[in-house]
Amino acid sequence: MTLSGERFSSRVGSSLIYENETNEGVADKYLYRTAITRLDVPQSDAVKLHDLIDAWHAGCAIATDYAWGRTTSRRAIQSATYDTIREETGLKSEHAILVCHRVAEALSSLEERRTQGQRVSKPSFRSPTVAYDGRTMTLFEDWQVSLTTLESRAHCDLVLPADSDGFQYRYLADDAWSLTESTLTYRDERFYLHLGFRRLRPEPETPEHETVLGVDLGIEQLAVTSTGRFFSGREFTHEQREAIERQRELQLTGTRSAYRTIGQVRARSQRYGRDYLHRVANGIIEEAMTHDCSAIAFEDLTGIRSRLPNATVVHRWAFRTLLTFVQYRAKTRGLVVETIDPHYTSQRCSRTDCGHTDSDNRLSRDEFRCQSCGYELNADYNAAKNIAIKYVRRGHTSSRRTGVSQCALASGTLSLDGYTDRSVTD
Ligand SMILES: [Zn+2]
Repeated sequence: MTLSGERFSSRVGSSLIYENETNEGVADKYLYRTAITRLDVPQSDAVKLHDLIDAWHAGCAIATDYAWGRTTSRRAIQSATYDTIREETGLKSEHAILVCHRVAEALSSLEERRTQGQRVSKPSFRSPTVAYDGRTMTLFEDWQVSLTTLESRAHCDLVLPADSDGFQYRYLADDAWSLTESTLTYRDERFYLHLGFRRLRPEPETPEHETVLGVDLGIEQLAVTSTGRFFSGREFTHEQREAIERQRELQLTGTRSAYRTIGQVRARSQRYGRDYLHRVANGIIEEAMTHDCSAIAFEDLTGIRSRLPNATVVHRWAFRTLLTFVQYRAKTRGLVVETIDPHYTSQRCSRTDCGHTDSDNRLSRDEFRCQSCGYELNADYNAAKNIAIKYVRRGHTSSRRTGVSQCALASGTLSLDGYTDRSVTD
């Protein structure tokens, strides 16, 4: 890890803090950060660390003498010089390997400069630094670090900022960041640790495509999705009708106990209705998640009274409640819920290459047959597809996304590039 490009923070207190994003790894799957913190080193351990730095320099010199003008390969340097480094410097095994890695790294970057026409000379390693990695350094929960030396390990405290939102904590306390190659350095009579952290590069948050699930509401089928999932309204309608009937009968009885029973019947049927609508809402969310949707489109409920003349007060309550339930659940899953103007969604052919709109397309309550292309399907399913298509066509995509929108259908996703539309007056 190169430490060039470091940016000093204005905060210089008990601990010197800076943060950098190395250029290395731009193309790879990791993000790198360095958190620099001062170490509180006991006197006896300071001696050990100074001895280690001297041995490190000696090790680097051995590796460089061998490799200069010969190789930049880690493996070649290691197999040729590892034993000598161990014998002559007293470095522990892992540090001898780290020496070879550091030297290979330095020679590689010099070689790169040389091929760019710059003059380079044999490097000498004199700066008071030593590389550490997960095997030579252990970080403890109480912000203590143990460091490999030539003898027993040194134990030092990290001198971290007093406030707990110091950025070091962001890396130390976050499991997503793991400790990677780090550097011990001695400067101005103090030891510092440049802690290297890395984490997997997060996936971009804005996918290119937005996929929308269309939902048609009705009486026979309470909800139908553009992916072809049906939520029957039959039992719901039957149950609600029975409850109303029963309340009417009780009202005619007129006794005090009858009125008490009316309240119970009403409460029970509301409970049933809400339970059922919760299940439908869950099903719609499930459908959206399964098909990787980021948006759910419903028809706008204003004017539903004229569009669905058979819908009772209870049905209109059910539609509003269902929409609320879906909106509530969608929020926790990062889905957007939108409503669209439902005009012609039931008369229009949802076939991509057709789009013929004609009231004669609707043969009966359930059946849809396009008068132009002959496409036949369930009428509610056709409407649900049209709701998704209309959402995509109006370009009303959520602000977070920039790419192409597409519809979630049973057959897969449908993008509307080159989508033709005939006889559409909306
Ligand atoms: Zn058609």
